Amino acid sequence: MKYALVTGGSRGIGRAVSVRLAKEGYHVIVNYVSNREQAQVTLDMIESAGGSGEMLRFDVGDRMQTASAIEGWMQEHPDGYIEVLVNNAGIRRDNLLLWMEDNDWDSVIGTGLDGFFNVTRLLVKPMLVKKHGRIINMASLSGLKGLPGQCNYSAAKGGLIAATKALAQEVGRKGVTVNAVAPGFIRTEMTDGLDEAQLKKTVPMNRFGEPEEVAALVAFLASSESGYITGECISINGGLY
Ligand code: NAP
Repeated sequence: MKYALVTGGSRGIGRAVSVRLAKEGYHVIVNYVSNREQAQVTLDMIESAGGSGEMLRFDVGDRMQTASAIEGWMQEHPDGYIEVLVNNAGIRRDNLLLWMEDNDWDSVIGTGLDGFFNVTRLLVKPMLVKKHGRIINMASLSGLKGLPGQCNYSAAKGGLIAATKALAQEVGRKGVTVNAVAPGFIRTEMTDGLDEAQLKKTVPMNRFGEPEEVAALVAFLASSESGYITGECISINGGLY
């Protein structure tokens, strides 16, 4: 059995990635934090496409909770290891820095950046032992260029891109690749409240992207065909920079 873990797999991009990786033959561990019903919908989609998966609840920003869930999974699967990790869980709490509350800063950094650390450090060791692994981090255009109203989110995603490049150099020799994906506007609940009709005019392709388009890129980075790509941040944004 080949295992993949997708954090934040219950909705949006994480759901599309989970379904796609299942189609590629992975048994997908669908992580979620609060939305069990939606995680179940993802699992149902995986199974109706002929794949297999399971749900695993933990808050990626909570170090103890993450360790307990992942170590518990490892104990139950002594012969398996998670060879594909997609650090996808993320939230945004936009505000001008002047008005930003402590919790808006802490929760966005906690989920987007601490979450990467909390999950990845547990899973990278078995990848190194097996001399194969794929780590894909969900960054954002906001982490590349910085966006007003998103100091917290831009910092989390910019940090994630830098960590991607650093970790790639630490583990490359052992057959583990580490890459980031930087989406622009993708149609999910995260972008629900935005004025799509207005914002799409800023996108050269004149539309928002679909989660399945991001999932196709993630599937490529998870595949053996991408084995010589590491430390990269690949944009998927319809030409918007
Ligand atoms: P979404 O629809 O809001 O879904 C967010 C997912 O993250 C949900 O599955 C949620 O789980 C999970 N999550 C949130 N906090 C978590 C935590 N502390 N621990 C574990 N899981 C957690 O978001 P999305 O648009 O699919 O975004 C997915 C990723 O892409 C994020 O990292 C986001 O920053 C990035 N991104 C999105 C866009 C875009 O335009 N949509 C653009 C650039 C980057 P529950 O269902 O349990 O709440």
